[in-house]
Amino acid sequence: MPSLPSHAAYVIIGAGIHGLSTAMHLAGRLRAKGVTVGQGSKRIVVLDKTGIGAGASGIACGVVRNNYYQPAMRELMAHSVSVWERDPEAYSYHSVGYMQISPEVMHAQVGTIYEQQKAIGYESVFVEGEAASLEYMRGLFSDWQAERITSVLHEKRGGYANNLAAVQGLSGKAEALGVEIVTGVEVKGFRSGNGSTAITGVETNLGTIGCDQVIVGVGPWINAIWNMLDLPKQISVKGRDGTMHDDVRMWRYMALQEGTLGVDPDFQKTNDGRMPPVLHVDTDEPLYSDRDGKLITDALWGIYYKPDFHFNGVQGGAMPAVVEPDADVVRVDPYGPKSPEFVVTDNFADMWTSALAFCQKRFEGQHGVYRQEPSGGIGCFTPDSFPVFDRFRDNVYVIADSNHGFKMIGVGELVAGELLGESSALLEPFRFSRYARGKLHPVSKSPFPWS
Ligand SMILES: Cc1cc2nc3c(=O)[nH]c(=O)nc-3n(C[C@H](O)[C@H](O)[C@H](O)COP(=O)(O)OP(=O)(O)OC[C@H]3O[C@@H](n4cnc5c(N)ncnc54)[C@H](O)[C@@H]3O)c2cc1C
Repeated sequence: MPSLPSHAAYVIIGAGIHGLSTAMHLAGRLRAKGVTVGQGSKRIVVLDKTGIGAGASGIACGVVRNNYYQPAMRELMAHSVSVWERDPEAYSYHSVGYMQISPEVMHAQVGTIYEQQKAIGYESVFVEGEAASLEYMRGLFSDWQAERITSVLHEKRGGYANNLAAVQGLSGKAEALGVEIVTGVEVKGFRSGNGSTAITGVETNLGTIGCDQVIVGVGPWINAIWNMLDLPKQISVKGRDGTMHDDVRMWRYMALQEGTLGVDPDFQKTNDGRMPPVLHVDTDEPLYSDRDGKLITDALWGIYYKPDFHFNGVQGGAMPAVVEPDADVVRVDPYGPKSPEFVVTDNFADMWTSALAFCQKRFEGQHGVYRQEPSGGIGCFTPDSFPVFDRFRDNVYVIADSNHGFKMIGVGELVAGELLGESSALLEPFRFSRYARGKLHPVSKSPFPWS
């Protein structure tokens, strides 16, 4: 049975990418100031009810990209990519690049992403026009065949990281700096007192741990912890037209759909024998089944994929599925592939393998080697599907990335700075008050809620 200290300066809930990155950076910053981290001094204790990487971070596809239509997201991602690049080995990070391959309906918006990437010094190539896009793609993959693609944004940085290996890399670094990680301990509630809303203790199944600051990085479990903190279930959101919408549910769930094609990862090498960039393709061309030729969809659709030795195949996903029930009744546990409800269905397998075949001839007829195993997992989303990084109840810092934040490894560094009294301009656009103030991020034409 793990044991808990009676008090810690910083109690971090969740041993995923955000909890661990915050812990590691905070410990590093404190030590740089000459403060000892650990027993008898400033303790940083990470609590996890299951284990390191037991949540979304441990099953994420691991794609790291800058490609976001929202300027604030791009700036934040540029910072995170630089953190991945600091220690690729420890984070199991593969800097293969990333490509956004789009239809005409997205052309202009992706063009603005390219312009702003140039402005912030993030290296990318932008190819425009159907013939030029086809030629560029065939220069990489001779069997490229996706039709009516009219722009290609090729980010030279970014790529992907192996999910569990990355969080293990972070936890190793954090522990080396004096962070204590206690697993098998579940947070059940919070204590406050003395006429203040500040949290004085974190209640767990193993007793209460007193604290000066609490950091919440619980990914898909944020709705439960939010309720324990008595934060509002319904909020007011000022729309882009200035209209106030009251009683908007703060949290809702979506199911991320991912799977693996059981081919040798080398199967997807480029013409010159290299490991390729992560490919993300959106299109409004009709998609027909590679199994039986039936129409799957004639609406805008999108997929992403990469060869991955960790998943041992070509791995990727498609747009998420809406989870209809209210967040309070969604069963988050057992999580991920262990969930009896929220794993991908055969419809996903048909759609995704057919989409691969739509893009590249080498995938035609390969649906039979799709790996029939439980995959995917749910994520908890904010009203605008963008993160909330903010302080609540005086001393609780919530890191809620709206479930596209594996790539956001750098947020922990920025949060650590804010815990030490700094203010981060990169985090400022993600405050909770943006909903009431109507400072929402722009919405793109992508079929994905997180682009
Ligand atoms: C299938 C899938 C694929 C994804 N692919 C990508 C991708 O390619 N790129 C990308 O950027 N993002 C991706 N994401 C999103 C990304 O995985 C998450 O946004 C990110 O990992 C969240 O990290 P986190 O640290 O906040 O939470 P998590 O990694 O979920 O960690 C939370 C931890 O909190 C613990 N916990 C929860 N409640 C309690 C409690 N009461 N007491 C104690 N401990 C508790 C859990 O056990 C868990 O270990 C994907 C998500 C899914 C589901």
